[in-house]
Amino acid sequence: MDHQSPQPSSQPSLFVSHGSPTLVLDNTPARDFLKAWGSDAPRPKAILVISAHWETEQPTVSMAQQPETIHDFGRGFPQALFDMQYPAPGAPDLADRVYALLNDADLAPDRAPSRGLDHGAWVPLSLMFPEADLPVTQLSVNTEKGPAHHHAVGAALRPLRNEGVMILASGAMTHDLQSFFAGGYPLDAPAPDWVTSFGDWAADRIASGDDDALMDYRAQAPHGARNHPTEEHLLPLFVALGAGDGAGRRIHRSHAFGILQMDAYQFDGAA
Ligand code: ZN
Repeated sequence: MDHQSPQPSSQPSLFVSHGSPTLVLDNTPARDFLKAWGSDAPRPKAILVISAHWETEQPTVSMAQQPETIHDFGRGFPQALFDMQYPAPGAPDLADRVYALLNDADLAPDRAPSRGLDHGAWVPLSLMFPEADLPVTQLSVNTEKGPAHHHAVGAALRPLRNEGVMILASGAMTHDLQSFFAGGYPLDAPAPDWVTSFGDWAADRIASGDDDALMDYRAQAPHGARNHPTEEHLLPLFVALGAGDGAGRRIHRSHAFGILQMDAYQFDGAA
């Protein structure tokens, strides 16, 4: 692969499940997958991360020149996580382009002057692109606006893929934290049926490009609301769907702590 090509190749839209922040430390299939995918992938010019861990009223993009690494998790996590840094350069030019595309689509975007990278961004990025040399910016989600809004955001951003920009949507295929914190689910616990049935339902709809059914997952999917008591961890998927335009490929399937389905999808539809 010629990394110096002056003509940017079309980049994919990706959805990844980032799991627990300890994904970067734990020896799991999902961690191995992200490492391998990143080392094999054509390098993008820049990366736009849509993170479940940044919620704002309007779709907001970070203008940070040098985004700080935000350790947005509780004190109970290992010190090694708090010591981690992901010193990638920011991408203010890309942020301006994101703002313009969303503005042209009447999606009322906003800019944040100095927002850094939260763990929804730097956990997968530090596995996929450990050199931290690719410019990165982040875009927020809004749980009050739901799947259709986020699909529209993704569709508006689709042209970026022909400009060498990777769309990296980072959330969770399942995220029933109530069961997670109730305990009884070690890292290698088998996945319960309510988790696998939801993940398999989503996989079938993504493979057939049935975005309408996916956006109606709370009514149509098995255990939709149980797996997403709040929607923020699934909303990045709808951005990836909108930016991907068409059927997606499941490029990874595994579970962590039983109830976190760690699936990843790649969308290569026309940009
Ligand atoms: Zn998360």
